[in-house]
Amino acid sequence: MVQKIIQELSERDCRLVAVSKTKSVADILKIYQQGQRAFGENRVQELLEKVDQLPKDIKWHLIGHLQRNKVKYIVPFVDLIHSVDSLKLMKEINKEGEKNERIVPVLIQIKIGMEESKFGVDPNNIDSFFEESFKLNLPWVQISGLMGIATFTENEEQIRNEFRGLKASFDQIKDKYFKDQDEFKELSMGMSSDYQIALEEGSTLVRIGSLIFGPRH
Ligand SMILES: *Cc1c(COP(=O)(O)O)cnc(C)c1O
Repeated sequence: MVQKIIQELSERDCRLVAVSKTKSVADILKIYQQGQRAFGENRVQELLEKVDQLPKDIKWHLIGHLQRNKVKYIVPFVDLIHSVDSLKLMKEINKEGEKNERIVPVLIQIKIGMEESKFGVDPNNIDSFFEESFKLNLPWVQISGLMGIATFTENEEQIRNEFRGLKASFDQIKDKYFKDQDEFKELSMGMSSDYQIALEEGSTLVRIGSLIFGPRH
């Protein structure tokens, strides 16, 4: 399954983050042994428990909502934080990055779905978010792109429109603030149920859990 997905993604210059939340170290190793190196967790505590028990060349992605008081635990090693949605959080990441002398790659999460609970920057405020963040001058945070979670619905048109809107925002932001800057390159969108739509709409990173690991309990 993993290899088939990786193949499908590579045809579109997209990469896989295997979402291993709730799954055991043994389950993760099985996927690792098939060549997968990027894994995503949504809770810091669970991530920290797994890191020490797994090979050092795993690239760990934090994909879930991140509290400021947890930032210090992951900054020393995290490969990419997908879920930055406030300036306060960015400031905290910058502070910890400086302490560790490590520039921390992050994505800005944009609220594209309809669910009330979804985190993320309001799509109408993206420009002001970026402008404010540049004013703060945070050299230890590297903004590498955008992330979004589509509405959980059977309505494919709606999902497609949400992804398309996120891609349009990505292109605008790139053009306006990161022209000729290679580091702004990732568009993290697509999960087990909607990654094929995300691929068609320009995703560069899909976050797939249940399709690879089986259902979560
Ligand atoms: C759990 C999770 C995923 C993966 O979900 P699946 O439906 O199992 O593929 C992707 N992104 C985020 C932010 C998640 O929390």
